Amino acid sequence: MDLKETQDEEQFRRTVRGWLQGHLPAGWGTPAHRAPETAAEQVAFARWWQRTLHDGGWAGLTWPTEYGGRGAAIVEQLLYNEEYARLRAPDILSLKIGLNLVGPTVMACGTAVQKTRFLPRILSGQDIWCQGFSEPNAGSDLAAVKTRAELRGDAFVVTGQKTWTSVAQHADWCILVTRTSFDGPKHKGLTFLLVDMKSPGITIRPLREITGDAWFNEVFFDEVRVPRDNLVGEINGGWAVVLTTLAHERAGTTPHVRLHGEQRRLADLARATAHNGRRAADDPILRQKIAQSAIETALLRYTAYRNVTMVQRTGQPGPEGSILKIFWSELEQRLKDTAIEILGVYGMLPKGEARAADDGFWFYELLWSRAATIYAGTSEVQRNIIAQRVLGLPR
Ligand SMILES: Cc1cc2nc3c(=O)[nH]c(=O)nc-3n(C[C@H](O)[C@H](O)[C@H](O)COP(=O)(O)OP(=O)(O)OC[C@H]3O[C@@H](n4cnc5c(N)ncnc54)[C@H](O)[C@@H]3O)c2cc1C
Repeated sequence: MDLKETQDEEQFRRTVRGWLQGHLPAGWGTPAHRAPETAAEQVAFARWWQRTLHDGGWAGLTWPTEYGGRGAAIVEQLLYNEEYARLRAPDILSLKIGLNLVGPTVMACGTAVQKTRFLPRILSGQDIWCQGFSEPNAGSDLAAVKTRAELRGDAFVVTGQKTWTSVAQHADWCILVTRTSFDGPKHKGLTFLLVDMKSPGITIRPLREITGDAWFNEVFFDEVRVPRDNLVGEINGGWAVVLTTLAHERAGTTPHVRLHGEQRRLADLARATAHNGRRAADDPILRQKIAQSAIETALLRYTAYRNVTMVQRTGQPGPEGSILKIFWSELEQRLKDTAIEILGVYGMLPKGEARAADDGFWFYELLWSRAATIYAGTSEVQRNIIAQRVLGLPR
């Protein structure tokens, strides 16, 4: 990748920054802005913000214009993401599955009718999607799913259980991996469906996370009817569709920008916090850890750029995305561990406590970051992928 930006690219960056500064809610990023707090408020805010981006022509940068995207190049997406994260514009959990996973999957594997029906609604924030892949006995070994789909007339009838399904309680639609054959190799009996979450027979039970929030859920399907038109790919050919989704899940292009921001925040914290009778920033061990995190954040940036180059060359994210996933998720945890080390026992105070540093930000992040090496494929699974598919080592 040529790291020097062209004049057009610099201009593009300025345009993105100007537009975002002009459209973020008043007082955004300052104490004057009251961020949405409850899950319902956050979801309503997410829909509003996505519609605003869409109306401004900033939704789905690399998506084709026929589906409401901007038809831009991947480098522009990278520049956009960098400016977006630099301004700490809203990082919206509830829309990520639709935008990052469902959209690219439907574009690659869906029918013409599915593309026209679903893609514009994802971009405009009208539909929230969830990902019904994991089950109690099928996580890393996703091909082991048992949720059964039986074709009866013009509909599949689905019965079974999914778990860890993020935002299911707010979702309009779900990408669902089901089993349609119990014969032969596990991965050859799977079928990929698009399921309306308002269908009769669906029960959702939120699961409370270590942070106290309940973003993920158990989802039960009891004879749920899914029209045959909502099949993606072939019956028993769902594994190919799943692999498309997973490649996009692991290939996020710009984790470095958010972590770079947090790394600078960590250095500020060390300057402002007393530790063992002096500034944490003057403690030789902590200094080394902070310097190391700055080095690793820079390395992450170049790893992300290498991934973008791969997508530019091949049009698709490759297994190299696993290198990026391991690196950012483990760096994220080290960064949060260092923050708590700086804060000492005060680091355990949650949001709302008078003496909590940064209003409990680091404590919440410490807890939430534990999930980073699990979701989108655990670190162990990513290492297997790198060993087998990048390095060509035997199984
Ligand atoms: C915050 C969060 C949100 C999530 N959201 C969703 C969602 O929206 N939709 C969804 O479908 N899922 C979601 N998940 C589930 C996630 O994808 C799974 O937790 C993950 O794939 C691991 O599966 P598992 O939990 O069943 O663990 P297991 O697969 O049982 O793994 C247990 C341990 O064994 C290790 N292990 C397993 N297989 C191997 C192997 N072959 N080699 C070496 N080690 C191995 C794992 O690394 C792990 O340490 C979410 C998870 C989290 C934490």
